[in-house]
Amino acid sequence: MEEHKSTPAHIEMREKQYDELLRELHKGEKASAFDNALKQFDRAAKILKLTDNQVAVIKEPRRVTEVKLPVRMDDGSISIFKGYRVQHNIVRGPAKGGVRFHQDVNVEEVKALAFWMTYKCAVVNIPFGGGKGGVVVDPRKLSLSELERLARRYFAEMIDLFGPDKDIPAPDVNTNQQVMAWFMDTYSMHHQSHIPAVVTGKPIDLGGSRGRISATAQGMVYCVHNAVKHLKLNLKGATVAIQGFGNAGSFAAKFLHQDGCVIQAVSDIDGAFYCEKGIDPEEAIKHVQRAGTLKDFDKSAKVEKMSNPMELLELPVNILIPAALENQITEENADRVKAKIIAECANGPLTTEADDVMEQKGTFIIPDILCNAGGVTVSYFEWVQNRMGYYWNSDYVFSELKSYMDDAFEVVLDASINYKVPMRTAAFIVAIQRVTNVAEARGLYA
Ligand code: GLU
Repeated sequence: MEEHKSTPAHIEMREKQYDELLRELHKGEKASAFDNALKQFDRAAKILKLTDNQVAVIKEPRRVTEVKLPVRMDDGSISIFKGYRVQHNIVRGPAKGGVRFHQDVNVEEVKALAFWMTYKCAVVNIPFGGGKGGVVVDPRKLSLSELERLARRYFAEMIDLFGPDKDIPAPDVNTNQQVMAWFMDTYSMHHQSHIPAVVTGKPIDLGGSRGRISATAQGMVYCVHNAVKHLKLNLKGATVAIQGFGNAGSFAAKFLHQDGCVIQAVSDIDGAFYCEKGIDPEEAIKHVQRAGTLKDFDKSAKVEKMSNPMELLELPVNILIPAALENQITEENADRVKAKIIAECANGPLTTEADDVMEQKGTFIIPDILCNAGGVTVSYFEWVQNRMGYYWNSDYVFSELKSYMDDAFEVVLDASINYKVPMRTAAFIVAIQRVTNVAEARGLYA
């Protein structure tokens, strides 16, 4: 009869046994980003004591769309690509989130990324839900005109999903202003009307916002300033390693260098490069402008190529910035990560198992849904400007961004102190509470 007792202690015991069983079953398997996202949710939901109804409405995505994208290649042949758009939740506003072009895109990843967008928008308190899209493609293998046909086909194929009050895409890994311009044009042509607010991250001449390109890194820097102040550390002279040298990573290097940090290592798809005395970010950016990636950076600058790029994550630096893809720090390497602060420019770079290891070590993690929310916050400003038809100067954009980021950091830090939980769970507590309140007010069905 023991099994049927349901005192809190018995329930907890059974949950533990169940977790152990699950761990045993999935031993050796790599957990998907979505599994990781759900575990992050569960930790906060448990503390908030959400009801089953509340969980049912806000945890899983509301709509998952998969499309086949036939594209004519330059040689006349037709290639078929797979595209996704996931709308995770729209109770607080239209779905919002980028579209990534990457060969490893899969539906579980897009679901995770859409999930993070819901909670990211709630953390910074902007009136959007969460969405994300992806195309399974290595864009480096396409010509510019093939890329254009693919981008237009992606948008046209799901045109009914999108709209300034429905779902608003933006750039993500391997997509940029040009891709957003094609999206905007495809949508506007179909609607025979000029509709810039359907996407953000557009070129400034086409209704883009000043400051959008550097917004993710700038938002991260505001968070790092707050973290350093809270931890009573000194930013000047702090050592930094950055994994990923795309939009977020390269601006992160530039801004932190301006703050007096020593950028000891940077990496991208073509390798990791190290210099104890510090890498000049401008030199690295110029190299990438010339060569396309950091490939052979050690031949043009006084830096050393690291034999194993993953070891960048284990360098004895003060601040580590993962700015690439998901699941980079896991239970396998977490115990070798030495940074005092981890500022997550990427989405989902740490698994929950890695989180636990870092917590033991006392590492201060600025979680993705807070740390990289500067991008979507300026996307929100862009959408507002498009709808006003009135455009802001950069000083105004950055002062607004700073105020959103500082407020969010403060609320999350307070929750972390009050609930005695790490910053990630605190961020989810704040965000889940905001989403749940609106869901309740709307009757839980939205
Ligand atoms: N792709 C970015 C992110 O993951 C930006 C999304 C947006 O601006 O909508 O936050």
